[in-house]
Parts: sequence; C-alpha cells; structure tokens
Amino acid sequence: MKQKKIPLRKCTGCNEMKEKKQLVRVVKAPDETDENGQVLRQGEISVDLTGKKPGRGAYVCRNADCLAKARKARRFEKAFSCRIPDDVYERLEHELGEQLQDGGIKG
Ligand SMILES: [Zn+2]
Repeated sequence: MKQKKIPLRKCTGCNEMKEKKQLVRVVKAPDETDENGQVLRQGEISVDLTGKKPGRGAYVCRNADCLAKARKARRFEKAFSCRIPDDVYERLEHELGEQLQDGGIKG
C-alpha cells in the first residue's frame, strides 16, 4: 500500500511547514468587481473552518502567538495584498480562541 502524501502548508506566523490539520486557513473572499474590473467591495477576510471557502487562503498555526506574529509583521496584508482592519484581526483572534477552547476544529 502506498502511503498518502501529507500536504504541508506554511504558517504565516512562524514560517514553519506544517500539516494542514495543524493549521487554520484564513481566507479572503474574491473582491466584488464591476464589468471594468473596478473593485466595488473588498472581499471579506474570515477564518475558514471547512477549508472550502472560495478565495485566496493563508495558513496560521492554531495558536494565538502565531496569529499575533503574523499580525505584527503584517503578513496577511502581504499575502492578500490588501489592508486588514483591526476588527478583522480581532474577529480572527476571537474565532481562533473559540477553536482552541473547543479543543480543535471538528470535521
Ligand atoms: Zn506558526
């Protein structure tokens, strides 16, 4: 039997390659654009618990430290090429915190 390859992703905080299940995917939804490609509304940034949300994703370890590091170094801004307001980070911290309290992501 062939061993299944484990997909690795890089944490935006500590820059280490980890198994996807050890990471949380943060996703930026596609921007809403008009027919000329002008951005009408910037895609929302959220924690993707299912791994199936459309848009560009970045990964971060399931701990507050890595999220804080990524925030401080503005790595999500670079990954998504857009400004990320403080309330988005606060929501990410909150959502991540809830996941940690639950003992991990289900599914
Ligand atoms: Zn990390």
